[in-house]
Amino acid sequence: MPMNSLGKHLQAVQSSLPTSVKLIAVSKTVPSEVLRLAYEAGLRDFAESRVQEALPKQTELADLTDICWHFIGHLQANKARKVIEHFTWIHSVHSLALAQRLDQLAIALERHPQICLQVKLLPDEHKSGWNPDQLRQDLPILETLTQINIQGLMTILPLGLTTEERFQAFQALDTLRRSLSQTSSLALPELSMGMSNDYPEALQAGATMVRLGSLLFGDRDPSPTGQPAKSTT
Ligand SMILES: *Cc1c(COP(=O)(O)O)cnc(C)c1O
Repeated sequence: MPMNSLGKHLQAVQSSLPTSVKLIAVSKTVPSEVLRLAYEAGLRDFAESRVQEALPKQTELADLTDICWHFIGHLQANKARKVIEHFTWIHSVHSLALAQRLDQLAIALERHPQICLQVKLLPDEHKSGWNPDQLRQDLPILETLTQINIQGLMTILPLGLTTEERFQAFQALDTLRRSLSQTSSLALPELSMGMSNDYPEALQAGATMVRLGSLLFGDRDPSPTGQPAKSTT
């Protein structure tokens, strides 16, 4: 899309969302000059999925001090320190071991990152995440991790579902969130769900944060398989 229409377009998307829902602009593959225009159009929350791509862009935008950076990519243990140092939110915490490591690092680095626990609701070999039963079992240990702020649940749906199946899956995440918060000391107010192709169903099912990339910035180059590369999700 032409650059001069970006601001209008962003405002149109933003105003189509309920005011209680946080719009997170997924800026992977988008150059920092375009992020600057998106910032000028009013966006403040940006999400990246690769540390090595995000850090140079964060440096280029360092003068925009009220940007809130979200990490949404597959998080490898050896990148955990950098992610804590450079991101306020981490949406893709997919295992107990990773949550424990983040908590330890956060203590050492004196940070209090905001965390979402990534849940895999349906089988998907391309995605990581807790299955709901495992998450229930791990909850007592997760409750003891007090340096990280566990704020809610996040999910990415597999491709190829019908509208109704997507709605039901998102509803299942909300049901899980309620049941976990009733049986633990974690309040879990946030539901990070919904991407460009499925955010209407996510909103209907109670999303509090939607992660929109191509809808805001146009299509990314598709990968040869048509699936997002595992390392980016
Ligand atoms: C890329 C990505 C998005 C945004 O996807 P779009 O289809 O471009 O909106 C959202 N969430 C995660 C985890 C992603 O990797």
